[in-house]
Amino acid sequence: MYYVSTRDSSRRLTASQAIVEGLSRDGGLYLPEEIPQLTMDEIKALAALSYPERAAKLMKLYLDEFTGEELLGFAKNAYGPAKFDTPAAAPVVKLTENTYIQELWHGPTCAFKDMALQMLPYLLTASLKKTGEEKTVCILVATSGDTGKAALEGFRDVDRTKILVFYPDGGVSEMQKLQMVTQEGKNVGVCAVRGNFDDAQTGVKRIFSDEALREELAVRGYFLSSANSINWGRLLPQIVYYVSAYCDLLNAGAVSAGERVNFCVPTGNFGNILSGFYAKKMGVPIGRLICASNENNVLTDFIRTGTYDRNRPFYQTASPSMDILISSNLERLLSLLSGSDEEVRGYMQRLSETGKYTVSDRVLRAVQAEFSCGFCTDAQGAQTIGKTFREKQYLLDTHTAVACTVLDAYRAETGDETLTVVESTASPFKFCASVLDALGVAEHAPGTGVLSQLTAETGRPAPKPLASLAGKPVRFGQITDKADMRAVVAEFLR
Ligand SMILES: *Cc1c(COP(=O)(O)O)cnc(C)c1O
Repeated sequence: MYYVSTRDSSRRLTASQAIVEGLSRDGGLYLPEEIPQLTMDEIKALAALSYPERAAKLMKLYLDEFTGEELLGFAKNAYGPAKFDTPAAAPVVKLTENTYIQELWHGPTCAFKDMALQMLPYLLTASLKKTGEEKTVCILVATSGDTGKAALEGFRDVDRTKILVFYPDGGVSEMQKLQMVTQEGKNVGVCAVRGNFDDAQTGVKRIFSDEALREELAVRGYFLSSANSINWGRLLPQIVYYVSAYCDLLNAGAVSAGERVNFCVPTGNFGNILSGFYAKKMGVPIGRLICASNENNVLTDFIRTGTYDRNRPFYQTASPSMDILISSNLERLLSLLSGSDEEVRGYMQRLSETGKYTVSDRVLRAVQAEFSCGFCTDAQGAQTIGKTFREKQYLLDTHTAVACTVLDAYRAETGDETLTVVESTASPFKFCASVLDALGVAEHAPGTGVLSQLTAETGRPAPKPLASLAGKPVRFGQITDKADMRAVVAEFLR
């Protein structure tokens, strides 16, 4: 199977080449030329397997250069007991008769990014071997909080890799920042950027397209790659948990084979929900994909009107991992729905020149045929956290709360009571301050004391990786202007 750029379908690469390159040189994103199909019998067969086995079988469909054993080995390591605190890896929990929560935060950094970033280092290092690349790869990451830590944890001390993470100063939660600045490992770097997430992401993209820097680094034996969800190696492992959720619902008798379920997904860069779209196109019986946003509701407007317009105020919300105005992976959706690299090039050119574009009626209809959408405020999300805990004794984080709020509104508006899986993207303990506020606790303990405070309030234990942060030494304190990010990279690879 070959992979092509969204902006130039004559650029055809193997999977390993696409994973090594990350972003295409033409600025486009890679996607598989075709989407492999699953029959219901194959889905039923997957239901009898463990999570790592499901992952290996599904990824194999997209990675024909890799052997089944190779992929199973990766999956057993990535999702095994040394990394995940439950063998189910992404367990599905029943909240009400027709609402299930898929918990994607049982990995080492307590957010859904682990689902992909525990796997990516295996895919990338194997891809380096397969492509004969001899230079050391330096992973550059722009993070709204969770990707950075998950990538650091995934790549730490991995041979022939280095990793440098940029996060927006003041744009991440205290716990997220502490997780990053205390990161261990010989090959890691962390730097704050004065600005917001889009500034950090734009800075990283600019570095990727800097030919002079590329040459300078090649001389020193390095090349740059990405662990952001622009890399296909990030999206592929995420397809697995959508299929896995359906398998688990079958096993629980919650759905009969072939019965459709909806997914409601708290969305920022459109990576998570796009993986759900792939699962649907592979043949998993998925009805609506509900795209949930916070007050940075650029995607809600896009899905409703067909106009994507990033010219709007940027809000720092209680769900910082969704504080994004440029959703990179939407480009892949436009490519899939338009089938035209020329059309995608046009949209992306208008986006970079004017900050907005309007899709054709045909593409808009195709988007609306698959996706529903909605957004909510911090206050509404907080209410949902309080209510869900009081009524169901289930503790939501601020991102998952956005999805639950949007799902309620969607049901009230449409009357669609189809069984829906809410993708839960973070442990509530990653966002203690906001969660405590939502529970009506205004006074917060200092530092990591909020963890035991939240435990005392709710009776829920803090995940081990967060509890163990207390007392860890801070290793990284650097802060840079966005104009100087290039120099930080050059210095890191000195
Ligand atoms: C990254 C992240 C999101 C957004 O996911 P996308 O793939 O960017 O849409 C939502 N919630 C949490 C907790 C995250 O870390």
